[in-house]
Amino acid sequence: MSTLDTQSIHAGEPNPRIEGAVSMPVFQTATYTHPDPDAPPRYVRYNNSPNHEALHGKLAALTQTEKALVTASGMAAISSALLSVLEAGDHLVAPHSLYGGTLALFSDLLPQFGITHTLVSTDSPDAWRAAVQPNTKVLYGESITNPCLGIPDLRGMVDLAEKHELTTILDNTFASPVNLRPASLGFDVVVHSATKYLGGHSDLAAGVVAGSSEHLQDVRQTTKLLGGMLDPHACALLHRSLKTLGVRVRKQNATAQALASALADHNGVGQVHHPSLASHTNHGRAQALLDGYGGMVSLVLAPQADVNQFFDTLSLPLRAPSLGGVETLVTQPIHTSHKDVDPADRRAMGITEQFVRVSVGLEGTDDLVADFVAALDASLSG
Ligand SMILES: *Cc1c(COP(=O)(O)O)cnc(C)c1O
Repeated sequence: MSTLDTQSIHAGEPNPRIEGAVSMPVFQTATYTHPDPDAPPRYVRYNNSPNHEALHGKLAALTQTEKALVTASGMAAISSALLSVLEAGDHLVAPHSLYGGTLALFSDLLPQFGITHTLVSTDSPDAWRAAVQPNTKVLYGESITNPCLGIPDLRGMVDLAEKHELTTILDNTFASPVNLRPASLGFDVVVHSATKYLGGHSDLAAGVVAGSSEHLQDVRQTTKLLGGMLDPHACALLHRSLKTLGVRVRKQNATAQALASALADHNGVGQVHHPSLASHTNHGRAQALLDGYGGMVSLVLAPQADVNQFFDTLSLPLRAPSLGGVETLVTQPIHTSHKDVDPADRRAMGITEQFVRVSVGLEGTDDLVADFVAALDASLSG
């Protein structure tokens, strides 16, 4: 089984199939009979139901790691991964361009456990190096940043961690395993919000932690105690979704790239952020590291464009936070993901009222491009 598409269909599936069922049945039971006292008990919170085990096998294959674990949400994956590595007195280093929930975890919850952090302002190993302290244990990052879609120096991050014997944890939600497998770059632990591309239909919440058997043993124990396990029904939904991961994400990559290049020259647009564009700051790095440029596009409308008129005219995209689903979603980060960021920091990142983030769905590419062009035309008509 070599390609991701083949693995997404066949990896982790029970062999032989249970009662001949082609698709994995849902084991809607909390506990299992335990006739052999020497065997480990099966219990739904221990993440060892047949639905969990099939999913773990598939996810380990897709992420190219030894082991994977599903969790109740992306935040459950992130908190379990961090708390399985960090102890009181430890310190972590991360860039400040992180998912808001992760930043809040660092600043509001981890200090209660005696864990401190330093946020660096640029995604460069020099900045990370300067922030490493004798008690630093973890370098934490995201493979594609929100909402400017920057790509940090991921190889530099792994090299630095090796030098200081730090554990690297990477949130690969925006890239998905279709576009990047961070374990192959040397990252120790990879986390995903499976609510996004892995689930892919905006109809479930889930998370994934993947890595070596050694790391995952600790993460499993932490998850078991924190209790953020995925319900068997949600396991089955995620399992079903993973089978179309490659087809979905490649189509989203292609539409996002077409949309980015079609809109880059429109008078209503000041700037388009997409790693496929030669104008993107990290285009070279994206070419070197990614198999696809991703389904997220950010538009900065021109100063003369009326952003309300733009939203009112768009007919296909839904105005909603989150990403990675089959429906195209549009948001203004200033009112959603970056609502709580200091206004001066936001301005420095170029995040204003005119900044619109697009999660490209699976609608027809030409239909979407035409819809965006019509909305931009309308935004200039006032
Ligand atoms: C959404 C998201 C999360 C949190 O995931 P939930 O499933 O909502 O808990 C973490 N990281 C990134 C990059 C995200 O986009």
